Amino acid sequence: MKNNVALVTGAGQGIGRAIALRLAKEGFAVAVADFNPDTARRVADEIASAGGKSLAVAVDVSKRDEVFAAVEEARKTLGGFNVIVNNAGVAPTTLIEEITEEVIDKVYAVNVKGVIWGIQAAVNAFKAEGHGGKIINASSQAGHVGNPELAIYSSSKFAVRGLTQTAARDLASLGITVNGYCPGIVKTPMWDEIDRQFSAAAGKPAGYGTAEFAKNITLGRLSEPEDVAACVAFLAGPDSDYMTGQSLLIDGGMVFN
Ligand code: ADP
Repeated sequence: MKNNVALVTGAGQGIGRAIALRLAKEGFAVAVADFNPDTARRVADEIASAGGKSLAVAVDVSKRDEVFAAVEEARKTLGGFNVIVNNAGVAPTTLIEEITEEVIDKVYAVNVKGVIWGIQAAVNAFKAEGHGGKIINASSQAGHVGNPELAIYSSSKFAVRGLTQTAARDLASLGITVNGYCPGIVKTPMWDEIDRQFSAAAGKPAGYGTAEFAKNITLGRLSEPEDVAACVAFLAGPDSDYMTGQSLLIDGGMVFN
């Protein structure tokens, strides 16, 4: 497809940033969308300084109007919009007995509602462009199996897989494919903090937590954000044209499904 243009949500840091950079490397013009306008701008600048085409957009994915506005801005500014990556998410840990309504509302608003608004906005934009496109949703290894202290996050990611499968069926006749990706444990700044806390609690130096978690991963190491970005690049490109409704595990073999 000519004029490859993607919008990636939650692209200001972590996995989303790696996805935005990778898609830019693949020749996509990328709208870098994030709740945090400063990090979005930084990643958009990174792309531009490497010779790519980019746009920074501030968006709260839990707000339907904001998601529609962001996608419209991307479509009008970059032209030929054909890929959305609904990546933004939040992942608070809570013991099941301590889950509050506030946590439920926050996590579902971003992780589930945000994906629904992203799907709707993308369909709207693809129709305006007069062609199909690709919708890519962030699920998780925790969207396949329950993880300790992650009930709300885990259930939100199971929901995303359900949305991906259903949207795939509903949108196929419009030439739209819908797929997802399911990362395991990814070495982002957020993970470094978890490692510090885990290691300190065990009275060990930083890095201990990472080594302990790696023992339960078939490939023996945590994921780099770039591992996930490579999978998303495949889903965004023509090599996945005959796939829809799938949520690919990219977790080093934590879950076999
Ligand atoms: P990960 O490890 O999955 O990459 P991070 O917490 O490092 O997770 O990154 C998630 C990104 O999603 C952050 O840049 C954050 O600002 C963004 N984000 C979180 N909530 C929202 C939201 N409601 N709308 C848009 N972006 C969001």
